[in-house]
Amino acid sequence: LIQVSNLAVQFSRRKVLKNINLTLEKGSVTAIVGPSGSGKTTLLRTMNLLQLPSEGTVTVAGVTVDAKHISKTDVHKIRNQSTMVFQQFNLFKNMTALENVMSPLIYNKLAGFDEVKSTALGVLRNFGLESIADQYPVTLSGGQSQRVSIARAIVAKPKVVLFDEPTSALDPEMVSDVLTTIAQLAQQHITMVIVTHEIEFARQIADNVIFVENGEILAQGPANQILSTDGTGRIADFVNSLE
Ligand code: ATP
Repeated sequence: LIQVSNLAVQFSRRKVLKNINLTLEKGSVTAIVGPSGSGKTTLLRTMNLLQLPSEGTVTVAGVTVDAKHISKTDVHKIRNQSTMVFQQFNLFKNMTALENVMSPLIYNKLAGFDEVKSTALGVLRNFGLESIADQYPVTLSGGQSQRVSIARAIVAKPKVVLFDEPTSALDPEMVSDVLTTIAQLAQQHITMVIVTHEIEFARQIADNVIFVENGEILAQGPANQILSTDGTGRIADFVNSLE
């Protein structure tokens, strides 16, 4: 579903990503892990072209954008295939939880108002959030806010959902609720890419793990292999340092 070839991203003179090659299958869950500042967020953002590549190509659902001749139309096509969940939730403050979840359907004119409302309520119900549907973001806990933003990210059935450290702004007691919600989506075979420091969680839900260091992919493969604590070398050291 997603293919990245020979990708590099450069900010002014500095290459923050280089030699990136990866293929993500439809329905797969991929975790991106690595030290702070290694380029994880930038890699995630290039997957929906919020960040444009300086070199190489990004292909999503058959549409390819090549750094050599970037087509705005194709960039928009790719952006429309995916949604992103941010650390800081980014809910619309002037809308209730329900209105937030309804917003992508209304924006894309995907259905009439009543149908949009019942679809959005259905997603909130699945997440166990029906009781807070009419509350404004300021009255929600961090965990509830993040789960509402995940509901909003999936309601229009995007091809890909990208998560940028979805639990790192949460109080520790809220983390497991949000991880449970994401695990619930993984079981529905929604294609997801998750930048996370939660190694145990990555082990449990990720089909693939990509380890990024200094802007390069140091290793990629099955979670139990890449995130093993037994090995020696850079990745095992990193994994052990987080546990
Ligand atoms: P963290 O885990 O701390 O969030 P990360 O692995 O996600 O880090 P990125 O946020 O992708 O790392 O950043 C990679 C490098 O690129 C960092 O050195 C960062 O300072 C730099 N960088 C990121 N965005 C920009 C930008 N818009 N302009 C200039 N430099 C940037």
